[in-house]
Amino acid sequence: MTHSNGANPSGIKKPALRVIPLGGLHEIGKNTCVFEYGDDIMLVDAGLAFPSDGMHGVNVVMPDTSYLKENQKRIRGMIVTHGHEDHIGGIAHHLKNFNIPVIHGPRLALAMLTGKMEETGVMDRTILQTVAPRDVVKVGQHFSVEFIRNTHSMADSFSLAITSPVGTVIFTGDFKFDHTPVDGETFDMARLAHYGDQGVLCLFSDSTNAEVPGFCPPERSVFPCLDRHIAQAEGRVIITTFASSIHRVSMILELALKNGRKVGLLGRSMLNVIAKARELGYMRAPDDLFVPIKQIRDLPDRETLLLMTGSQGEPLAALSRISRGEHPQVQVKSTDTIIFSASPIPGNTISVVNTIDRLMMQGAKVVYGKGEGIHVSGHGFQEDQKLMLALTKPKYFVPVHGEHRMLVAHSKTAQSMGIPADNILIIDNGDVVQLSPDSISKGDPVKAGIELLDASRNGIVDARVLKERQQLAEDGVITLLAVISTDGVMAAPPRVNIRGVVTTADARKLSMWAEREIGWVLENRWNQLCRNTGGKAPDVDWVGVQREVEVGLQRRLRRELQVEPLIICLVQPAPAGTPAYKGRADAEPDSRPAPRGRDGGGRGRDGSAPAPQRQLATVGAPAPAAAAAPAAAATTVAVKTPAPAELEPEPAGRTRRRRSAAAVG
Ligand SMILES: [Zn+2]
Ligand SMILES: [Zn+2]
Repeated sequence: MTHSNGANPSGIKKPALRVIPLGGLHEIGKNTCVFEYGDDIMLVDAGLAFPSDGMHGVNVVMPDTSYLKENQKRIRGMIVTHGHEDHIGGIAHHLKNFNIPVIHGPRLALAMLTGKMEETGVMDRTILQTVAPRDVVKVGQHFSVEFIRNTHSMADSFSLAITSPVGTVIFTGDFKFDHTPVDGETFDMARLAHYGDQGVLCLFSDSTNAEVPGFCPPERSVFPCLDRHIAQAEGRVIITTFASSIHRVSMILELALKNGRKVGLLGRSMLNVIAKARELGYMRAPDDLFVPIKQIRDLPDRETLLLMTGSQGEPLAALSRISRGEHPQVQVKSTDTIIFSASPIPGNTISVVNTIDRLMMQGAKVVYGKGEGIHVSGHGFQEDQKLMLALTKPKYFVPVHGEHRMLVAHSKTAQSMGIPADNILIIDNGDVVQLSPDSISKGDPVKAGIELLDASRNGIVDARVLKERQQLAEDGVITLLAVISTDGVMAAPPRVNIRGVVTTADARKLSMWAEREIGWVLENRWNQLCRNTGGKAPDVDWVGVQREVEVGLQRRLRRELQVEPLIICLVQPAPAGTPAYKGRADAEPDSRPAPRGRDGGGRGRDGSAPAPQRQLATVGAPAPAAAAAPAAAATTVAVKTPAPAELEPEPAGRTRRRRSAAAVG
């Protein structure tokens, strides 16, 4: 790697161009890139990713945008390359956090973005400017960007030539070289070559298929294969693909027309995208080709083609619901031919094959997989990537848009074309690429990570919540209701509820253990958890009581049963003077008191024998009836205790209401 202070002949240090990907590296998804020069920040794309296994209840994965929030005053604008979710899916969400003065992008992508922005209510946070091929836009003082038409699975897609004071960067966006594109819009290779002749400082190139040798077949190549399957089908044809694969959808509509079949559309995104694309002229199909899904039953099967979402086995998508027999309008027939015209994104494979199995079990003919010629990638293979390198002749090279091994493979391809290894950087999200006319280097990284959103797309699922959900999914949950008087007496036997916990211990044993934990906490912690306010009722840190009980029980279960369920303790406070509950007579001797001292703060149980449990020894009336009833929400405080290491210190005597009793009841 060469290093330079970036000094120009006059000796005045020119700042470096900084390129900071916040997403899209070591992964496929959530492409988000920051270009920075002097005081200007320009964003290129802002996508989302979909959750991986174990991210329970997470619908969308976003990059951490702390860096942008901190520097929002310097954001001058955004460039959008094309309308795929992994490039525009994050924009509406980010606009809730910071304004973007202007967004320049292709007509189709911005039309799709408008829908999302309207839904999110952020239309006033930016200005949308559509661009045409070879348009040049200026962003801030320092950037000018030319939109170069490229070819991809999405229509109206662009590569970018980004000119800055230190030189020109070619940012390919998603691309493959398709010389016979479905919409006739060919790759503007002449423009790439023009920049190559002028001198390209650095190429940032799509690495998705860097491991695949050869050229990517043209999108048109799937046409005859789909045609054959549709022509041979005896009954209905059901096809699933990405709604955003505009060219594929166009071809399917064309094939329906050719084969004398009417089209029924299922799935919100399929309906939306086709409506937008037809409205803007990216898809041509006569109105009478389409039949509302409610009337589809009236058509003969041989004249029916259903086009729907669900190619990734998404549980709520149309085809997945049909496969489970849960769709109100469409049921599988044994005469159906069902075509998966897409390949599963890594991570979705299992849900896809499960969907295929369910469909096959109902007797349908399912066409899927690589050998059928019914799907081609929208991303170039090694030879496409070489052609890009050959046309742009960059001095420096940064492979992007791919998992680590793809970046490495792409870097090898570049080296095979004569780019020295020292001129190539493999980077991670948050890394800072510093470019000057004669150097490329990594600067100090900025904060990067992920933000997880739930279905509402408002609630951020933080690491703690995710861990709780994993615990719930893997080990279940135990809820525990304790009735404790404000003078520290257990007033009723704890009520234990077990959900999803695989254990040899029965509820009786668990409630006995719970009783012991409560007893131990009252005996050993009460003084610390209770502040006597003199005269008035004592100020009890009920949250602290709950945490102590939860942590203690958690430890015991881990030790005795090797399970780690989520434990939620609810305490219903009872007035001072409430008679104590008499401990159960059948309790077996507690031969192994749970070792405490977990906090490492010297609050552990001392070495002496377990103290007699005060409230158990007190003879009193039987438990009040009210105590055994579910706690009244109004008086019940409930908290969930995170793992001990995550505990944040809580001011003594303060009660926080984090989760209502109703939420766990
Ligand atoms: Zn794309
Ligand atoms: Zn992409």
